[in-house]
Amino acid sequence: MTTMLGVSLEGRDVLMVGGGDVTARRLERLLAEGARVRIVAPALSARTAELVAQSTATWVQRAVQDADLDGVWLVHTATGDAERDLQVAAVCESRRILCVNASDGAHGTARIAAETRAGDVIVGVVSDAGVDPRRAGRLRDAIAAQVREGRLPLRRRRSTAVGSVALVGGGPGPTDLITVRGRRLLAEADVVVADRLGPVDVLAELDPDVEVIDVGKRPGHHPVPQEEINALLVAHARRGLRVVRLKGGDPFVFGRGGEEVAACTAAGVPVDVVPGLTSVVSVPQAAGIPVTHRGTAASLHVVNGQGTITAATRAAMADGETTTVILMGVAALPRLVEAARAAGAPADRPVAIVQEGHTDRQRTLRSTLDEVVDDARRAGVSNPAVIVFGDVARAGLLLHPEQQAAGVPSP
Ligand code: SAH
Repeated sequence: MTTMLGVSLEGRDVLMVGGGDVTARRLERLLAEGARVRIVAPALSARTAELVAQSTATWVQRAVQDADLDGVWLVHTATGDAERDLQVAAVCESRRILCVNASDGAHGTARIAAETRAGDVIVGVVSDAGVDPRRAGRLRDAIAAQVREGRLPLRRRRSTAVGSVALVGGGPGPTDLITVRGRRLLAEADVVVADRLGPVDVLAELDPDVEVIDVGKRPGHHPVPQEEINALLVAHARRGLRVVRLKGGDPFVFGRGGEEVAACTAAGVPVDVVPGLTSVVSVPQAAGIPVTHRGTAASLHVVNGQGTITAATRAAMADGETTTVILMGVAALPRLVEAARAAGAPADRPVAIVQEGHTDRQRTLRSTLDEVVDDARRAGVSNPAVIVFGDVARAGLLLHPEQQAAGVPSP
């Protein structure tokens, strides 16, 4: 019978007998745990030698002697000679030292589990019968995939002294366009502070007792002021809870993520940022528009439509090889068009507006600088939408010339 024991080897002496590739594999793990490793072996494999050269591990070049076991907490033996490994294991047994015997089919008084980690969780696989590293590894990988994607119950039931905040970029909306890391952090979260935009459907998949706080803007409702959001994140983390701040797109693109990070840092609350697919790129893409395209657009200028129109924005809109992407820009469209015209952009410069990209309600308007204001009004374009100024917004850009000639409609 085997009991799986979580052992802390940090700062503890470990003896490794044998210098082959099995030793190398295990050595990496032991070093990562912070163990103080001494290898005793007449020779080292190339990989082991490399690890020894790069690490704190030491090597004694000779066959093992009983005295090598003095003062060690754990022995790992992988000499390539089963008989020799058994002898080492026997000495360990008599001296009450736990021993991992890596010989094929054998096992000592200790085993190293096939392990996977996600956040602070470690899952290990061992077997009661003879070692079978392939099975253990495959089982470990299958569990790892589920843990990574947050499909297992990862939430802590006991809060820690200090909680934490993770700013998670949720992407443009669909639940499968959020990162795997974001999904795992959501599965670990005690509190989720969410916006209106982004993958709101994932909220329905959370444990019923996860607290969801909606701070998003809705028609007729005022949004929660940023100061209050910052205070909310800090207050919940200080109660020892894990807080996910779920945001649309990427947290650092017009998401005020920087302010939230600064607030947490100032309060001494650990904070992490998980990137997300920003609507700057992913929403045009949903309509078949590449924000850069060889021979068409070589640079990208990104603007918050609610801000003032800067010289850089005017220059970008007038430049034939620059794509200008405007977020939160529907209300500012007439102003932007005016500025582009004044800066010398041609009347037939393509403009596209992609509304509710990556959702069932996605609509794309294709127009030109001269006509887009009227076209948008007629079409009743509204937020959330991304405006693309530039030649990449031309319908049919990605069609072959013969398809264009045949008049095949663009997506
Ligand atoms: N941090 C976000 C942007 C927040 S600003 C990101 O990286 O994407 C909010 C603006 O993003 C909206 O006004 C709109 O311009 C744009 N937006 C976000 N999701 C969108 C979507 N699914 N479709 C169209 N526009 C979207």
